[in-house]
Amino acid sequence: MGRGHVIRLADAPLPMDERGRGAHVLEDLIARIAGLPIRAACPAVVQEFGLMATKITEECINCGACEPECPNQAISQGEDIFVIDPKLCTECVGFHDEEACAAVCPVDCCVPDPAIVESEQVLFERAKALHADKTFPQFADLPASLSRFRKAK
Ligand code: SF4
Ligand code: SF4
Repeated sequence: MGRGHVIRLADAPLPMDERGRGAHVLEDLIARIAGLPIRAACPAVVQEFGLMATKITEECINCGACEPECPNQAISQGEDIFVIDPKLCTECVGFHDEEACAAVCPVDCCVPDPAIVESEQVLFERAKALHADKTFPQFADLPASLSRFRKAK
């Protein structure tokens, strides 16, 4: 990347073959720091920071254990298996230090969804919007107990 090159953020992704992997990583990191949705996530960044929403896979046995655990009522019985509404899922940011659905699932089928990648701040803002009557700490002061992103690795 030469001097004066403008780094394009995630809302305007370039095909991977038009830029180096390093630029892609930097772009996603900047988006993450800025609290922007990261739609063209680099696999290396996703692996490093775990920046993915949660989905339920077809291994679901319909036990129903996850549904009451979700702080956002994001989980419901689908046609064949339980499903998560990504518009309501905050990866439990604002409530728990882990994904509550994944914590109780007996067959480990609540997993990160690489198709939906969002930053901690976007998830936190969603939690606040969904629970307008609840008082949350400032984003900068969010304790590790309320965000899996802040847990010690
Ligand atoms: S990760 Fe948390 S917010 Fe998302 S569906 Fe599971 S329990 Fe609900
Ligand atoms: S806890 Fe797991 S197996 Fe049970 S309904 Fe939820 S996703 Fe399916």
